[in-house]
Amino acid sequence: MNPSSISGRSARCPRCGNAFDCCMQTGPGDCWCKALPPLPAERLDPASSCLCPECLAEEIARAARGEAAGERP
Ligand SMILES: [Zn+2]
Repeated sequence: MNPSSISGRSARCPRCGNAFDCCMQTGPGDCWCKALPPLPAERLDPASSCLCPECLAEEIARAARGEAAGERP
């Protein structure tokens, strides 16, 4: 898949750069993140957009273990 061809419905993960379908674009009630446990609010970075499924799951796992948030630029 050519990343440059992605537009519109796909979001880009601010952490790993992978493109993924974001609930913000696909619409309410149709989001993969509902299948995951809720992420604590303090874990969310208001300056960035949604994380991809892989990074969100990783962040949830980190939160569950009481570790610090993932790497930041
Ligand atoms: Zn990611």
